[in-house]
Amino acid sequence: MPARIHNFSAGPATLPMEVLEQAARDIVNFNDKGIGLIEMSHRSKDFIAVADETESLLREILGVPAHFKVLFLQGGASLQFAMVPMNLLGPGKKGAYLNTGTWSKKAIKEARLFGDVQVAYSSEESNFNHVPSPNEYQVDEDAEYLYYVSNNTIFGTQFHAIPQVAPMLICDMSSDILSRSFDFSPFGLIFAGAQKNMGPAGCTVVFIREDLLDHTPAGVATMLKYKTHADADSMFNTPPCFAIHVIGLVLKWIKKNGGLAALEQKNREKAALLYQTIDNSSFYRGHARSDSRSNMNITFNLPTPELEAQFIKEATALGLDGLKGHRSVGGCRASIYNAFPKEGIVKLIDFMGDFEKKNR
Ligand SMILES: *Cc1c(COP(=O)(O)O)cnc(C)c1O
Repeated sequence: MPARIHNFSAGPATLPMEVLEQAARDIVNFNDKGIGLIEMSHRSKDFIAVADETESLLREILGVPAHFKVLFLQGGASLQFAMVPMNLLGPGKKGAYLNTGTWSKKAIKEARLFGDVQVAYSSEESNFNHVPSPNEYQVDEDAEYLYYVSNNTIFGTQFHAIPQVAPMLICDMSSDILSRSFDFSPFGLIFAGAQKNMGPAGCTVVFIREDLLDHTPAGVATMLKYKTHADADSMFNTPPCFAIHVIGLVLKWIKKNGGLAALEQKNREKAALLYQTIDNSSFYRGHARSDSRSNMNITFNLPTPELEAQFIKEATALGLDGLKGHRSVGGCRASIYNAFPKEGIVKLIDFMGDFEKKNR
């Protein structure tokens, strides 16, 4: 097999090699049954065991309380921008939002279709270079929830403390779920697309407090009601079988590697290496304010767009792939989720040093 490149892609993103190898074998022949995983009925005993195991591993690793349902849905994290307000708002009901980047902006746009919206805070004027601390905003008392994005994948910022609680939190954790532990108690609903830190594209995991399943107003289509999927254990229709299986393999890998505590420590160390390099240089400039820096997506700029293009080109030639920043920030972005190895970061840092010397 050719040597693997270092994949800094923001998503779909790098997965553990042993997970890829197991998934490849399972596609052809699952559990020595003479049938591939992606050929099996989702109602078969074997697949139901896969889905049950993935759910119980998620519950165990994340510490999901018993009064939360775990749903495996399709439509991407983006469908949740609409499903959340469709199910939890309605005429005269209000949702509060922290606008900290592209993904929250899109969620706010959808929420306005289904209820009132309070944008309690926005960092848009500073091109989303930070997230607020709780004393910087007020949530309206009549809001049903406060919605936020825990890690802003595009801008490279991350909440390092849970926001103001009142009345309950809704969180898009697409790009930092399973990267650290947290307490579920202030949350009503959490969702995450799998393709950043959990597995392949095609599955969105939703954690929803059971009492919220009955909040959906009349007139919401069956497939768009959380209750439909909760009542059917995510088997109302064909679920994303392959993605659910690979998420399960990733969860086993996480467990084997010490769980969230060990990952959180590693993620912090990996990110610190890159931030030190940026801080010790006047050539590289970080986009995120230092108190808001993400441990998952490190965003930085070079002195000119021409140098950035040259940097990305030379990095790619060295097997450091996917470093081009999102068009809304420009520059570079190194996405270093759970499965991204430290060696790749060391290699990037060496390259950054060489490139700076040559082009300063
Ligand atoms: C990638 C991403 C999304 C969009 O996910 P899709 O599955 O493509 O809809 C939403 N929110 C965050 C935080 C993301 O990183």
